[in-house]
Amino acid sequence: MTRPGPEEVKENLRNYLAFLREAGFLYLVPSGKPRILSAHVRAERLEALRTEAAKCMRCKLCRGRTHVVFGEGNPNAGLVFVGEGPGAEEDVQGRPFVGRAGKLLDQMITQVGMQRQDVFICNVVKCRPPGNRDPEEDEMDACEPYLIAQLELIQPRVIVALGRFAAHRLTRTDEPITRMRGRWYQYHKVKLMPILHPAAILRNMNYLQDAIHDLKRAVEEIPRPSA
Ligand code: URA
Repeated sequence: MTRPGPEEVKENLRNYLAFLREAGFLYLVPSGKPRILSAHVRAERLEALRTEAAKCMRCKLCRGRTHVVFGEGNPNAGLVFVGEGPGAEEDVQGRPFVGRAGKLLDQMITQVGMQRQDVFICNVVKCRPPGNRDPEEDEMDACEPYLIAQLELIQPRVIVALGRFAAHRLTRTDEPITRMRGRWYQYHKVKLMPILHPAAILRNMNYLQDAIHDLKRAVEEIPRPSA
């Protein structure tokens, strides 16, 4: 048997990577110890992933979107918020949580002693479901590799799932959010706490104190930068 030349090896590798991408692998993570990524590498790889996601046609939500709402924030964040999916305002601006619920989320982040730019904010699905309907199973399945890749790059200490929908999807349970909120779960080996969704809080501001209480506990899990 003749050994393949360098061009053939490259071509085979390209085909193999295309096959993996088609199968939903957006990043290959070496097995063994978790890698420590430098801030620079994280930011660069997240941007590459954002560019990739901007062209995404993996599910039917691509047909109605204005922008892919990849997510934004600190690539080195200790805390990642995961919401349900972009609404109308987010779809137009291409940024997560910029509508009324987003303004409240910003206030909640400030109330627990952080700033929006300290955290990373994204959603279970990156494109707006038509008429703000719930994302469907096939859409969440298609989008999940982006979320997993984001988390593998950011390597946060804590994920905060915003609301029932994200909590159910990420924990694969369907308990009432009122029972799940403030409890610890795991998603891809990262500690996860569901809290009430800011949009639900806007409908009943009595929920705000519970959400702040939960969020404070989640933030306590993040190591403080040493002085
Ligand atoms: N609600 C969500 O769940 N995500 C957003 O980005 C905006 C509102």
